[in-house]
Amino acid sequence: MTDYAIDLHTHSTASDGLYAPQILVQKAYEAGVRVLALTDHDSTEGVAEAAEAATRLGIDFIPGIEINTETSAGEVHMLGYFLHYQQEAFQQALRTLRDARQRRGQRMVELLNEQGIAIRWERVRELAQGAVGRPHVAQALVEAGYAQSIEEAFARYLNKGCPAYVPRYKLSPQDAVRLIVSARGLPVIAHPLELPGPEILRQWLPELCALGLVGLEVYYGPYTAEQETLLLSLARQFDLIPTGGSDYHGPGIHPTPLGGHPVPAESVRRLQEAAAARSHQTPPPFTLPEPAAE
Ligand code: AMP
Ligand code: FE
Ligand code: FE
Ligand code: ZN
Repeated sequence: MTDYAIDLHTHSTASDGLYAPQILVQKAYEAGVRVLALTDHDSTEGVAEAAEAATRLGIDFIPGIEINTETSAGEVHMLGYFLHYQQEAFQQALRTLRDARQRRGQRMVELLNEQGIAIRWERVRELAQGAVGRPHVAQALVEAGYAQSIEEAFARYLNKGCPAYVPRYKLSPQDAVRLIVSARGLPVIAHPLELPGPEILRQWLPELCALGLVGLEVYYGPYTAEQETLLLSLARQFDLIPTGGSDYHGPGIHPTPLGGHPVPAESVRRLQEAAAARSHQTPPPFTLPEPAAE
């Protein structure tokens, strides 16, 4: 292991993190992180600010994203690294995903209001700043005294099956890989043990790899050594790069601190190599499917 920390999974106020990008980078630096990726949900709006702060502090910065996808088994999250994120078609796709988040957030607030819960959409919008998510609705619920914690707000109102849950337009994992590849990025399945889990994963990996998947998040915040071993063997079997990170959102949201889960430098080196190889290829363009699932 290195004498510095590596963290390839973090969130800022551009999505549901609590810290602005430059503050997050500062906190990462103070925690000993010297290689950092910002992976906000459906947004790269924090990347330029984070990159600038990282350069100032001598942190090696990787532009990233996390796209929540939907499958018959539930949500699967796809990370993307080394994106040429300024491409207009890519930004347009992200805007479409964020617009869907906004409409869904509004509908959740309407449902809560109909149930006599007095929170305001304007407040949720203010709390969100960037891509709106259920965590911002949860924050508004806590603020107005309808729940003691974010966790309780999810459990009582916002989890799937709860009275205010509203689904939103999501891509399939295959299309998330295509979208990331179209911006010359490197797709990596996030926290794969949550979902899809090792059994389903084994069935999906041949197709996802053929589409351009390069990695599997093995060194994830709360994963144990046994879980890592299982995922490592899967990564080896499919020649995928084992990546890792904390999934830091700010204090009190996920348990792992910034840089809190060791990630080998070898993972970063392999990602860099893959990114360099991909930057010489012209990727196929990608068009979002019609948002029929709303
Ligand atoms: P959304 O993308 O709007 O559906 O919200 C999903 C996000 O909410 C996830 O990416 C997590 O960051 C967060 N989240 C999901 N469940 C919980 C929970 N029980 N407590 C806190 N945050 C959660
Ligand atoms: Fe999140
Ligand atoms: Fe995630
Ligand atoms: Zn995340």
